[in-house]
Parts: sequence; structure tokens; C-alpha cells
Amino acid sequence: MSARNYIKQLAELPTPFYFYDMELLNRTLNKATEASSRYGYKIHYALKSNFDPRIVEAVRRAGMGMDCVSGNEVRMAVENGFAASEIVFAGVGKTDREIEYALGQEIFSFNCESLHELQVINEIAGRMGKKARIALRINPDVDPKTHRYITTGKADNKFGISYDEIDAAIASLEKLANLEIVGLHFHIGSQIRDMQVFETFSKRVFDIKEWFREKGIVLKHLNMGGGLGIDYDDPDREPMPDFETYFDIFHRNLKIDEGQTVHFELGRSLVAQCGELITRALYNKETSAGTKIVIVDAGMTDLIRPALYGAKHKIENLTSATGSEKYTIGGPICESSDIFGRDVELPVTSRGDLLTLRSAGAYGMAMASRYNLQDLPGAVYSDKL
Ligand SMILES: *Cc1c(COP(=O)(O)O)cnc(C)c1O
Repeated sequence: MSARNYIKQLAELPTPFYFYDMELLNRTLNKATEASSRYGYKIHYALKSNFDPRIVEAVRRAGMGMDCVSGNEVRMAVENGFAASEIVFAGVGKTDREIEYALGQEIFSFNCESLHELQVINEIAGRMGKKARIALRINPDVDPKTHRYITTGKADNKFGISYDEIDAAIASLEKLANLEIVGLHFHIGSQIRDMQVFETFSKRVFDIKEWFREKGIVLKHLNMGGGLGIDYDDPDREPMPDFETYFDIFHRNLKIDEGQTVHFELGRSLVAQCGELITRALYNKETSAGTKIVIVDAGMTDLIRPALYGAKHKIENLTSATGSEKYTIGGPICESSDIFGRDVELPVTSRGDLLTLRSAGAYGMAMASRYNLQDLPGAVYSDKL
């Protein structure tokens, strides 16, 4: 149940903090697992979206693997009981130390993003007397029609290996004796709401995998990345994404070969809706242009998505229900971009009111910082109240 159902308990707590609806989290994880296992697909949770230990624990119980983008994430997965065979490691900038650590743990696969990275992993594996399992991250040049900062699969993007480089990658794999290619990896972007994009994408991957097959290269695994979007406008209308349709699109268009497995790396769609950022109104003020501003005690250091991507989180007043005003909601940080919303229609809001920023479970706490020497926000779980 959303934070609104726990106002009595929450009102006593120091703000700001993240509230997690653990029941919704578990329902979402189960729904995603059910929908994916219908086709034998495996989900790796994108740890970067939220590394809260309670969430990681719920993900492990749900039987998912881990998608990591740093050595510390690999370490967190290992230390939280994820089997090495369930851990993949992606990222354009893996350092030697991170590669050494992950090789030492014998993780399932490195998702490699450049020819140069293949050479470096090969060299380190050789030095350690290991064979590195790798997947080539191919940039499929599919436009995910989302914010340019969260687009990763278009041609002019720092991520992945481009079509022009695939031949060279295959040629170098033949020479790099300490690498074993286990599959292909893709990830075209995030917050993708247009299911048509996944259809285009899965058809594109079908073509790419056929091309590899014709070259006689066996691909045991296809990793389709993440990116399924959620309903930020109205989280109550769609508390859980449509995982059934999502996986069904891949099932219909990917047409996998005998013995091939398909992996997904979902982050946002699994955890965004279970989290809310709870904050308290501090001050009312008005600009000379007549804009009514409410300053709250949470800021871009707690939730940077609005400042970074222009993202909109639904804002509600949990403790006032009378009247109606349009407000700009701003935080305490010394940056003009520290604004959560403009023209936000709320009940009359005054000092002491509790506000919630909905759909904040993904890329919220995970991106929190101590800029301005702010404290990091706390975490409160519905099943502990
Ligand atoms: C961030 C990321 C994901 C998760 O993306 P979501 O939009 O949160 O599902 C998956 N795979 C890779 C490689 C990523 O970088």
C-alpha cells in the first residue's frame, strides 16, 4: 500500500526519506518472473536502479540474477548470496581491478563494449590463467524514443559495438585465446513506453543473430537488456508494468534457436513504483512574477531525476486536502535546477505538510549525493511499520 495508508506512522519520522511498499515490490517481482518464465526467459535485476539491501534481498528471493555495472556492484551481488553464474558485468569503463575481481569470482559473463576492452580482458584473463566468458554488446541503432540522456542504442552513442565493427570483433575473437563468446548483449535505453520500439528492436536482434548463425558462430545467450518504462503520470492507474505484453513481443519476434536462452536486465520496471520520496514542506514564498513556491526539505540530492532528465514525478500532499493551488515545488539545494515540479496542482500546502514524490523507487536513492553536505535520505519499509 502506498505511503498514504501509513500517514500516522510516517508523520513521526524525520524527513526526507524513501518509503518502500514491500508488498507491491514482491508482487511486481513475482509478476515479472511469471511472465518471463512462461517463455523460459531469465531476468537479471539491474542493481544500479536501487541497491537498497532489503530490495536486493527481495530480488534474490524472487530468483533473479544480477546485472552489474561496476566491480562494487559485482561484489554486492556476491556478498548478498547471488551465485556467480547469475551475475553479468556490463559497462563501458571497466577498470583492470574490476575485471580481475570479476574474473576471480568466475561470473557468468562480461558484456563487452569495445574491441579494445576485448583485448584488455583477454590479457588480464591470460595473466590470471582464466578463460573469460564474454558477450558482445552490439549497438543495434534502434531509436527508443525516450530522453536523449537515457538513450543508449542509437548509432552515435558511447555504448556498445557498432555494426561497422562487428567483423573486426569476430576476427579478433579468433585470436584472443582467453575469451569465450557466450552471446550477444543489447540495451537500447530506458523508460521505453512505446511497445512498438521493442518490436522493432526484437526484429533487429533476430536479423543480427541470424547473421552470426550464418557465420557459424554459436550464440548460447541473447541478452536483451532492460528499458521497460513505467507510468510516472499516474502510478495508481498502472502500479505494475505490462510484463506479459513486453515478453510476448520478444517471444513472437525473436524466434530463438534450439538451446538458446534469453536474458533480460530490468531495473526501473521492477522497483520504481514501490518507492516514494517523503518530504516535508518548509516554507511558502512567492516570486515577483506571482509564482507560488513551496520549499520542501528534500532536494536534488535525494532525487536528481527532475534536475538531470527533466523527469516528472507525481507530487501529492499527504496531510492536507482542502482547497487547490498551483505551486512550484523546490528543494533546499543551491542550484536553480533543484525543482521537483512547476504548476503542480495541490491542496493548499503549508509548513509541516507531508508531501510524497511518487514512483521514486528506481534511480532515486541510488543517485543520492551529499552535495551541500546534505544527509542522505533514510529508508522506511511498509512491512516494518
Ligand atoms: C541501466 C541498465 C539496465 C536497466 O535499465 P532499466 O531502464 O532500469 O530497465 C539494463 N542493462 C544495462 C546494461 C544498463 O546499463
